[in-house]
Amino acid sequence: MQFDNLLFGTAGVPNSTPKKNNPIDGVKAIHELGLDCMQLEFAHGVRMKEEVSSDLRKVSYELGIPLTSHGPYYINLNAREQDKIDSSVERIIQTAKISDLCGAESMTFHAAFYMKDSPYDVFDLVEKSLNVIEERLGRLDIEIELRPELTGKTSQFGSLEELISLTKSVNSCSPCMDFSHLFARTGQYNSYQEFADVLDKLKTELGTHALEQMHIHISGISSNSKGDLKHLNLEDSKFNWKELIRSLKDKGCKGYVICNSPNLEKDALMLKEYYHSLTE
Ligand SMILES: [Zn+2]
Repeated sequence: MQFDNLLFGTAGVPNSTPKKNNPIDGVKAIHELGLDCMQLEFAHGVRMKEEVSSDLRKVSYELGIPLTSHGPYYINLNAREQDKIDSSVERIIQTAKISDLCGAESMTFHAAFYMKDSPYDVFDLVEKSLNVIEERLGRLDIEIELRPELTGKTSQFGSLEELISLTKSVNSCSPCMDFSHLFARTGQYNSYQEFADVLDKLKTELGTHALEQMHIHISGISSNSKGDLKHLNLEDSKFNWKELIRSLKDKGCKGYVICNSPNLEKDALMLKEYYHSLTE
């Protein structure tokens, strides 16, 4: 998909939608709210009737609200048991199949936990599985961007550097840039200059197109010393979202910005309004 600028939407159906479990109503609500896109959340399993996905595809196309998706939490490509790795691969493929039926072109997921293994070994395993997934999706004729998420806990695979390396080695891979997670994971990356440095790094390492087709997550966030994460509304968080939006705008970034604050559409609208209030 070609983007003119950043599109703003919610992680899942907006809170104000009367039927919170109906993604078709969700897309209509996004349209009425004046937002641009919506992420399908398959966090607790990939289940959707085929007629729902084809209706969803139709409504999303007619209203001009593109979709992204998020795979199940229960994925670990570095699980101890081979059958758990196999089922993680299946879950990613299932997510890709349904996302494709819905017309989503970019899907994100949490790839793995380190399980105290060496990050290098985990990288090799994740890379191997993603190559298998890519090959199988190719045979199914499914074209979708696989976006391992920049994760917020240091026990999870998915640092900025790991995602950049994966993107270089697996064709259909790109990072899902969760800037709130990056802040929580490192305790850094919360100023205009640091955000700009990250964007420059993506551009240098992956090319200009990495900034022109982004899949971004933003929410308020806090993390304690144990690394437990809590998603907050932006106003209740120290996360410097205004500086992030300014740097995204200044660097000419394009693509999806998915808000996963608890208040979903309220923060998504605040992000969108701030973005459009900035002059070129
Ligand atoms: Zn996520």
